[in-house]
Amino acid sequence: MAEMMELIAQAENDLLHTYNRYPIVFDHGKGVYLYDIEGKKYLDFAAGIAVFAFGYGNEYYNNALKTQIDKLLHTSNYFYNVPAINAAHRLKALTGMDRVFFTNSGAEAVEGAVKSAMKYGYGRDGKDDHEVIALEHSFHGRTYGALSVTGNEAYRKPFGPMAANVRFAKMNDIDSVKALVSDRTCALIMEVVQGEGGLIPAQQEFLEEVRRICDENEMLLIFDEIQCGMGRTGSMFAFENYGVRPDIMTLAKGLGCGVPVGAFLMTEKAASLTLVPGDHGTTYGGNPFAAASVNAVLDLFEQSDVLAHVRDVSAYLEAGLDSLVQKYDFITGRRGAGLMQGLIFDRPAGDVIKKAMDLGLVIISAGSSIIRFVPPLVISRENVDEMLLILDKAIKEVFG
Ligand SMILES: *Cc1c(COP(=O)(O)O)cnc(C)c1O
Repeated sequence: MAEMMELIAQAENDLLHTYNRYPIVFDHGKGVYLYDIEGKKYLDFAAGIAVFAFGYGNEYYNNALKTQIDKLLHTSNYFYNVPAINAAHRLKALTGMDRVFFTNSGAEAVEGAVKSAMKYGYGRDGKDDHEVIALEHSFHGRTYGALSVTGNEAYRKPFGPMAANVRFAKMNDIDSVKALVSDRTCALIMEVVQGEGGLIPAQQEFLEEVRRICDENEMLLIFDEIQCGMGRTGSMFAFENYGVRPDIMTLAKGLGCGVPVGAFLMTEKAASLTLVPGDHGTTYGGNPFAAASVNAVLDLFEQSDVLAHVRDVSAYLEAGLDSLVQKYDFITGRRGAGLMQGLIFDRPAGDVIKKAMDLGLVIISAGSSIIRFVPPLVISRENVDEMLLILDKAIKEVFG
């Protein structure tokens, strides 16, 4: 234990203090388990925040990356590379979008999407004072453009003014959207299932109406699928559950399953009206290594029926979480979609999360009173049972 505590003390002395981290130093992972540097084993229901979809140490994935490391890591975007050419083509086929831009993170994908929307507005009427509508409780990332559309006042306030003119409407309240639309509005950005903000799925009617409002007002509809995409809800992308298509979409997290890679994608119609050479760029984005991770992830989706598995095991997880809602009156509900679930407490739940880690379970929060479950997509029913046992014990020890 001393060694781990010493390392943590050193880290706290050296790293900028932007996180209150849990006192664990992880060493390696295998399947759906993580091990700290003292060999303690943890069942992982966080997956690096909805990232490690196929678990740790996946042989196929690791070998694909090793092969690419020995071939070519980086070229810059002045040239073409085969992994990125293939990854873009495959993502187009999967999403139904027509154009792909690779980034290094989710926030950068959102930056690109917002810049595209602004340029689209500029092209539409020649003005440069356009507005974007975003939703309260949304999370789109921490860089300036992404922060500007993030619906959490506490995150934005110390950093004002923001990079873009943004108005915030309410999720699943179409009148709140209508009230904000003006001839300055160029786009609406939203998560199809809000993650960070509390595991809130869009309602069918809301999404259909938002699509209609965007069409009627020549606005672009941007879906941020960074957390809810890549199989997490049991469909490849959450919007497929609704049959409502965006003009621009963003991906990251599960896209590279551990390699930092994101993307924004758009329809040809949107692309023809927005970014042109000189408007946007990145040194690393879509480099051969990052793109190889995307191809490996897409191969893994093709090799087994992960989506059917997610639908099955998430129903099982939902039932298990619902039984906790029944059992404890301070747990007021469960919500989410697929393997993106939240358990809602009527009080701060941070101590339950800490206790669960003591007991060998990694879970995370979404706000102070919601416990978030975003496990690897390959989690089994037995893993769900194991998780529920530990969680129940943690809840009892903290609140019992
Ligand atoms: C995590 C997340 C982001 C930001 O991604 P980073 O890679 O952390 O920059 C943006 N949007 C959503 C919905 C996310 O969950």
